[in-house]
Amino acid sequence: MRIDFLTLFPDMCEAVMSASIIGRARKKGAVEIHCHQIRDFAYDKHNRVDDAPFGGGMGMLLMAEPIALCIDDLIEKLGEKPHLIYMSPQGQTLTQQRVRELAEYPNLALLCGHYEGIDERIIDRYVDEEISIGDYVVTGGELPALVLADSVCRMIDGVLSSEECFREESHFHSLLEYPQYTRPAVWRGMKIPEELVTGHHENVRKWRRKQSLIRTALKRPDLLEAAELTEDDRKFLSDLREKSENTEKETDSAQD
Ligand code: SAM
Repeated sequence: MRIDFLTLFPDMCEAVMSASIIGRARKKGAVEIHCHQIRDFAYDKHNRVDDAPFGGGMGMLLMAEPIALCIDDLIEKLGEKPHLIYMSPQGQTLTQQRVRELAEYPNLALLCGHYEGIDERIIDRYVDEEISIGDYVVTGGELPALVLADSVCRMIDGVLSSEECFREESHFHSLLEYPQYTRPAVWRGMKIPEELVTGHHENVRKWRRKQSLIRTALKRPDLLEAAELTEDDRKFLSDLREKSENTEKETDSAQD
């Protein structure tokens, strides 16, 4: 897979994408990443890429032409149009499901806005989808694009040591991951759960599944709707709900 960043801050994207797991994956050729400077496609002598919005208002907008030239140049280099994503607080919120789907594209291009954003005609002419990293606004598209690129790269063969690394992680199956512990088994008087000490694989698996269900039910019950649950899981969750309702009733009657 190849990911291209179109940005005013290629050094920022390059720095993050060169570090740690993604940096190593690039070195061994599991993913290919390129960062393009939109300003290189400015066409006036001051290298301007922004201008005031028609109709007035605060801030500046990235002009259409330098972005268009940058995209056209990329299309020429690739020999085809990549799936072009504009990072935008107005887009669909990124989810693990969408991350998995995006990992299937051979080429993704991530357009990073700045200032007040970009001329709308770029979206109309070139953009395949707008993606947001959440309902808040950051100053530029670089951090959102890096979040997207990192999460997509982790799904690519050869980036993590095995698929197991992400299959049990939070959100992959619409469940949150179970709690984890490392040595020492007793830390400042706090012991790890007994089930993890025995090393009995089946017991550990069952314990982890239950913990995932408990965590999701407590922290993000909304996720359970999309989770693939077995009959045992459903029974466990309904017992859990019953127990917590009974505890609530007991607490209420104790307070009366
Ligand atoms: N004026 C725009 C609006 O209200 O929709 C926000 C512009 S924002 C200050 C500048 C750039 O940051 C955007 O063009 C976009 O690329 C990026 N950006 C900001 N928040 C984002 C978010 N939640 N998700 C994805 N990109 C975001």
